[in-house]
Amino acid sequence: MSSEHTLTEQTITAIGDTTPKSGQDFIRAHILEDNASGRFGGRVHTRFPPEPNGYLHLGHAKSICLNFGVAREFNGQCNLRFDDTNPTKEETEYVESIREDVRWLGGDWEDRECYASNYFEQLYAYAEQLIQMGKAYVDDLSADQIREYRGTLTQAGRESPWRNRSVEENLDLFRRMRAGEFADGEKVLRAKIDMASPNVVMRDPTLYRIRHAEHHRTGATWCIYPMYDYTHCLSDSIEGITHSLCTLEFVNNRELYDWVLNTLGVYHPQQIEFARLNVTYTVLSKRKLIQLVREGHVSGWDDPRMPTLSGMRRRGIPPEALREFCNRIGLARADSTVEYAMLEFCVREWLNDHTPRLMAVLDPIKVVIENYPEDHVESFTMPCHPEDSSFGSRTVPFSRELYIERDDFRLDPPKKYHRLSPGAEVRLRYAYFITCREAVLDAAGRVCELRCTYDPASRGGQSPDGRKVKGTIHWVSAAQAIPAEVRLYDQLFAVENPNEAPEGKTFLDNLNPHSLTVVHGMLEPALGNLKTGERVQFERLGYFCKDRDSTETHPVFNRTVTLRDTWAKLEKKEV
Ligand code: ATP
Ligand code: MG
Repeated sequence: MSSEHTLTEQTITAIGDTTPKSGQDFIRAHILEDNASGRFGGRVHTRFPPEPNGYLHLGHAKSICLNFGVAREFNGQCNLRFDDTNPTKEETEYVESIREDVRWLGGDWEDRECYASNYFEQLYAYAEQLIQMGKAYVDDLSADQIREYRGTLTQAGRESPWRNRSVEENLDLFRRMRAGEFADGEKVLRAKIDMASPNVVMRDPTLYRIRHAEHHRTGATWCIYPMYDYTHCLSDSIEGITHSLCTLEFVNNRELYDWVLNTLGVYHPQQIEFARLNVTYTVLSKRKLIQLVREGHVSGWDDPRMPTLSGMRRRGIPPEALREFCNRIGLARADSTVEYAMLEFCVREWLNDHTPRLMAVLDPIKVVIENYPEDHVESFTMPCHPEDSSFGSRTVPFSRELYIERDDFRLDPPKKYHRLSPGAEVRLRYAYFITCREAVLDAAGRVCELRCTYDPASRGGQSPDGRKVKGTIHWVSAAQAIPAEVRLYDQLFAVENPNEAPEGKTFLDNLNPHSLTVVHGMLEPALGNLKTGERVQFERLGYFCKDRDSTETHPVFNRTVTLRDTWAKLEKKEV
């Protein structure tokens, strides 16, 4: 196939390279104000801070597009920061997948690949500083007791009996915590703020806990690990972040974010919260996604039904469409749920303009053209895109035996059925008019072959005498067809909100048992030249992407999306 539109060309673009969106939403408005007042000297520096404990998903795409997009629009910078304060075993695999996914989506962090774990020594020094200021103490209460002492939204908390230890004792204990003298859970370091604060987060939050566990980067160096709220603000400060954009569940934590930085008197970025992305028919929680993978409900993190970036990439969803989706949904200060159909709309819109159109038959039925010479093969040159000649053209063989889609024939056609039926004439796309003379049935009464004749004067699919045929169908020549496995996907979940499950059930009970259908189709020969990851439209069927499970002799395709919204109730098939 001759085409200028290869996959590589399709994917090398960056976030924020479309129209500038400055001032369009409350975050950009905030940044404009800060720039106007000279608050950060006109600098804009954001960060995308994933915790490497899972693969990135559609929700992260929103955060990536926002952070890298804002940085680019304001000529600023965006760091990739691994928020790796939890020592666990599997993090290296996650770190690598995150790098790959952010890059794929168009995020460029240049040389600014940061790790919260790189700051452990400095965070520890700040903690000693807080102790010395009388702003932190070592507490012997157990985790359960701490929770119990914390109080509730309507009831003030109680002070720990260990709250008033001397600075010397606290320092000594904290150093011994670091030295490994205590077991997990035996002691914690807490900020000394206010047990009666109306904001529960401010009731002496834990800053450090003991965990005798190896860390993927620092190994066995540490047995105490800083908590998220303490680490995040200081990492932002150390990196010189100007605007720390996070999701709404951190609204109450902003007070603590500000307290830590103000108390230590260090450089102070601005935290701004925005609404998380929720999408219908999808779960966007790493915990649930991990469960789907571990329990084998999907084939892996990059199963094309997964809302992970790797799954969507494998499915054939282009990064441009994801970015357009993130643009369209915009930013809000209140949580809401976006229709999955909106994502599909963006995917179709991009693929419509950027993929070649070739022919494949996914549910083949054989057609024999009785008046066509045996052993004769002719070639048709067909454009690869009807409206865009830059896609070039390809050669398609035609012969006496063909395949058409089973659904394009009816023994007993309804009114206004314009495709093939006994005695009816249709156009084979770009080839000839054919008329069905007879349908051959097998023993079970199922149509197994169609005997047809063609009109040699209609070559190229042109009417020879002004007579009209209403239907145009796709086809492939049987002898040259390439058999292929084609995976048709439907929603992974059968209900709009899979997170809601009745008593005694879980989100897993909402899985759609029909989310994957495998069919064996026949492809026109030019489709044999596609590379893994390349995208194409199978005419009249949808957009597809060649899967990495393909072998030389066994191509495998994933259906990225159908041509139309198949859930729309009044879908009217093109006839
Ligand atoms: P999960 O709840 O799936 O575990 P998380 O927020 O814990 O997600 P992180 O790795 O900590 O995952 O997230 C990295 C960044 O991505 C954070 O800034 C977070 O706010 C953002 N993010 C995560 N999920 C979403 C979402 N659904 N919508 C928007 N941003 C999100
Ligand atoms: Mg998190």
